[in-house]
Amino acid sequence: MPDRPESVNLYIHLPFCSSICPFCPYVKELYDPAVSAFYQVAILKELEGYRELWGDVFVESVYFGGGTPSLTPEIVETTLNWISGHFHVGRDVGVEIHPSSAGDAVLSSLRNAGVTQASLGAQTFNDRLLGVLGRGYSGNLAVQACERVLQAGFQTVDVDLMFAIPTQTLEEVEADVETALRLGVDQISTYPLLPFSYTPLRSHLNSQGLRLPSWRLEKRMLQSVVALARNAGYERSSIWSFNRPGSSRYTTVTRDAFVGIGTGATSRLGDYFWLNTFSVAGYIKAMENGSPRSLAARLTSADRMAYWLFWQCYNLSIDTGACRSVCGADLPRRVRTMLPLLGLLGITRREGNVIRFTDWGAYLFHLVEKKYTQTYLRPMWEACLAEPWPERVVL
Ligand code: SF4
Repeated sequence: MPDRPESVNLYIHLPFCSSICPFCPYVKELYDPAVSAFYQVAILKELEGYRELWGDVFVESVYFGGGTPSLTPEIVETTLNWISGHFHVGRDVGVEIHPSSAGDAVLSSLRNAGVTQASLGAQTFNDRLLGVLGRGYSGNLAVQACERVLQAGFQTVDVDLMFAIPTQTLEEVEADVETALRLGVDQISTYPLLPFSYTPLRSHLNSQGLRLPSWRLEKRMLQSVVALARNAGYERSSIWSFNRPGSSRYTTVTRDAFVGIGTGATSRLGDYFWLNTFSVAGYIKAMENGSPRSLAARLTSADRMAYWLFWQCYNLSIDTGACRSVCGADLPRRVRTMLPLLGLLGITRREGNVIRFTDWGAYLFHLVEKKYTQTYLRPMWEACLAEPWPERVVL
C-alpha cells in the first residue's frame, strides 16, 4: 500500500441498475434493495480502512459512477456524509444520473447531500436510436430529465451523448448535439459506441440486422460534433468532451492519484495500480473480513510516465513543465526528439512549455484511445468479470 498521499481523488462505484443495456461493459447488476443495503455497509467499511491508514487526508474530488448512482441516492447521501465527516473534501463532487431516475426528489436529495456536478447519461435524444441501444426511455423523457437537472442548481451539468450508433445518420448526431446546446448544458461528453465482445451487443444488433457504421462515417460524426460545439463557443477539453468557457470539468479518469471504492473500482496511487473484485457479492463478502483487491501491479517510473502522458494526450495538451513535478523526471529523450516531427506532421503545435494537439492530432488520439480500450481494457475487464479473483491477467 502506498504511503499517505497529500491528497486523493475518490471514485465510488455503485453497480445497481433498473435494467441492463446490451452494450454495457461495466460492472453492474439489477437493483436489489437487500443487496444494496449490504453494499452500502461494505463501501463505508472500505473507506474506513483508508481513514485508519491515512487519517484526515485531503479529498480533492469525489465521483459516483456505476451502474446507476441516481437509483440509490440514499447511498450517495450516506457516503458523502461519512466522507465529509472524516476527510477534508474539495469542490468537485459528481454523480452520474440516469434519465429514468432524474426526478425532482432524487435531484434535490443529491444537491442537499453536497453534489456539485451532474452527468446525465442521455446517450441520444432520438427515440429510434434509444430503441437500438435498448435504453428503455424516450427522447422526450431524456430532454425533460436534462431540463430538470439544469434547474436543480448543480455547478456543472454534463450530458453524455453517444455517436456511431448503428443506423445513426450524420444529421441525427448533429440534432443530438444541437439539442444539448439549446438546453444549455455546461459540458458535452461524446464517445463512439464501442463493441465489447463479452457483452450481448453483437447478438442484439444481429437480431435486428444492424451493423456498426463505417470508420469514415464515424470520423465525419466526430468532426461534426467538434464543429457544432466550437461554433457554439464551447472549448474542446479532451478528445471527446467540450466545455462552456469557465465551467469546471466533469472528469474522473484523467485525474492523477485516485482511489476507487466499491466493486470493479480501479485505483492508482504513487507506484501502485490495483483493481477491486468485479463481483458484487464477492466484494460484499470480502469487506466482512478481508480485502476487496483482486489484482495489483507495481508501476515502474516509465509506467508512471506513460500513464501520465496517455491522459495528457487524451486531454489534448502536454504541459512539459509539469512533467517533472508529477512524474519526478523530464519527458524522456525519445519523446522529446519526436515532438518536432509531430509538429511537422500537423499533429501538435507548441505554445511555450505546452504541446497542444491539433484537430488532426485529436482524431489520431481518438483512434489510439479506441485501440487502447480494445487491447488493454477489454481483456482486463473480461478476465475480471469471468473470474472475480484472477491470479494474474496477461495483456
Ligand atoms: S449503460 Fe448504464 S444504465 Fe445501462 S446497464 Fe450499464 S451502467 Fe446500467
